Parts: sequence; C-alpha cells; structure tokens
Amino acid sequence: MKNFDYIRPVNMDNAVEALKKNDDAYLLAGGTDLLIGMKNNAVQPKCLIDLKSIPDIDSIEYRNGFKLGPLTTIRDIEVSRSIRKKIPVLSQAAGTLGSIQIRNRATIGGNLCHASPAADMATILLAMDCHVKIASYKSEKTIGLDQFYTGPNRTVIGRGEMLSEIIIPKDMERFKGVYLKYGPRKAMDIGIVNIALLLDADYERGLCNQIMIALGAVAPTPIRAKGAEALLNGNRLKAGSIGKVAQAAADEARPISDFRASAGYRRDLVRSLVFKGINQILKDNNPS
Ligand SMILES: Cc1cc2nc3c(=O)[nH]c(=O)nc-3n(C[C@H](O)[C@H](O)[C@H](O)COP(=O)(O)OP(=O)(O)OC[C@H]3O[C@@H](n4cnc5c(N)ncnc54)[C@H](O)[C@@H]3O)c2cc1C
Repeated sequence: MKNFDYIRPVNMDNAVEALKKNDDAYLLAGGTDLLIGMKNNAVQPKCLIDLKSIPDIDSIEYRNGFKLGPLTTIRDIEVSRSIRKKIPVLSQAAGTLGSIQIRNRATIGGNLCHASPAADMATILLAMDCHVKIASYKSEKTIGLDQFYTGPNRTVIGRGEMLSEIIIPKDMERFKGVYLKYGPRKAMDIGIVNIALLLDADYERGLCNQIMIALGAVAPTPIRAKGAEALLNGNRLKAGSIGKVAQAAADEARPISDFRASAGYRRDLVRSLVFKGINQILKDNNPS
C-alpha cells in the first residue's frame, strides 16, 4: 500500500473543502470496500478524508419521509424501529448485506458511492424512488437515484463533491415490499441477482395500484424494470399477468456471464424471483 495523507474533518464544510484542495482524495466511510481496494492496489489515494468525526451524518431522521445521513451504518438501518415500522422492506434488505460485523462498519453512503451493480442498498433504494443530496464547496444539489449511476463503480459525483443525504419519499409507506437476493451462499456474499419489489394493491379486489421493481447484478448499474411495472399498474393481480410481468422484467435485464453465473441463468433467476416475490407479497397480505 502506498503512503497517503490522512485528514479527519469535523464538519461537512471542512470535508468538501478538503476534497476541493486535494487531488486524488478519497472519502473514507466504513472502509469495507475502500480498504480492500487499497490493499489490492486497485485504488491508490494520495489522501484519505475520514468522515467518522463529523457529527450527525450518521442519523436516521423522520421528517415527512426518512432522511438518512451518508454515514448511517447498514446495521442501524436494519435495526431502526421506525424504519422497521414504516418501511420494513428496507430493514429486510439491509439485513441481507454481508455479516453483522460488516453491517456494523459498512455505511449507506459507501454502498451507494462504491456503485457496485450488485449493491443491496442501491437496489432497494432505487425501487423506492429515492433522491440523494450531493454537496460541494458552498453548494448542494438534489437528484434522483435513477440519475446517480453512470456505470459499474461510477457515479455522477465529481471532483470536490460528496453524497450528503439520502431522501426516502413518505409515499413509500403505502407499499408492501420484499427483497430477494439469490447467491450460492446464505451469507457474506453479494447476490448473483437481487430483486426489490414494492407493491401497493387493493388486496381484497386483487387490483394492483402501483408496483416498483428494481433489479441488481443484472446490468452495469442497478436498474428499474419500468416496462414490467407498466404491465401491472392499474391491472388485476392474476397468475397469468404476474407471469408476464416476471418475463418482462427478465427481458429488461442486461446481465453478463462471469465466473459467478451465466447471463442466461441470471435472466432465468430474474423471472422466477419476480414471480415468487409478487406472490409472496400477495400471500403475506391476503385479507382472508
Ligand atoms: C466480506 C464482505 C461482504 C460484503 N457483502 C456485501 C453484500 O452482501 N452486499 C453489498 O451490497 N455489499 C457488500 N459488501 C461491500 C461493502 O460492505 C458495502 O458496499 C458497504 O456498504 C460500503 O460502505 P463503506 O462505508 O464500508 O464504504 P467505504 O469502503 O468507506 O467507501 C466505499 C466508496 O464510497 C466512497 N464514499 C463513501 N462515502 C461517501 C460519501 N458520503 N460521498 C461520496 N463518496 C463516498 C469512498 O470514497 C469509496 O470510494 C461486502 C464487503 C465485504 C468486505
């Protein structure tokens, strides 16, 4: 590992100022991605800006929807009572990431900014129509998470910028959801395919008001299966229509073949997991 400078800012302004002043600076959150990259020499920062002394950027606030600080750990999201009550599928998804040790260290900001196509938090938050705030020296902007990713391990965050907040719309509370992750091992593994499903339905009448489907690990970035969603929005939740939605989601996936799984296998998994997930939500919310 090469030598690097180390800066520990005490507020967000200092952090973005340090980013502006230092070329090749990396923000250090939990370090569960970054330190591995540094040990492998895949990244060689000249400067590390450690976020852990900044107060209040690890907070879970509820103000007309959730606002999460970027340093909020995955474990805090998993066990948060208010998240479990209002949007339990987010806690469920958080609980699938790595192990308790990793979740105690790993942050939501790091998960989004590392920008793995298989990132669990990115997949579930994309289904939730989240927005993110990006701070730079003396300015801040808000964009949809659907505009955040530009490719594998790439985001729109530019030099001198950092992710400063994750905003989950209050509207998400009307949805029931499920997060399904398929991998060869039960824990400590990123998914071969991740599926986030949110469904708002009239369960008694079997009518879908709105469905949100996000797919992870099957394209260069996590994606929404908007074509599949459109097939079900406003329509009846019948086995035939659910099958068509699952097939449409598989068609929208753009998986690659690698040492973990072939593209065809990943596509088949999307189809069967979307089918299974929708049926699971219906079963869990069966009014009778
Ligand atoms: C054993 C193991 C198992 C894992 N399992 C999973 C898994 O199942 N699912 C999964 O999704 N991931 C998994 N991961 C990956 C990793 O734990 C997560 O991606 C984690 O959330 C990263 O967060 P971090 O705080 O550790 O990020 P860091 O490693 O500190 O940072 C990651 C990247 O994000 C940048 N960054 C961090 N914060 C900000 C910010 N606020 N603004 C801009 N850039 C920022 C850093 O500069 C760096 O480039 C696993 C890792 C390990 C080691």
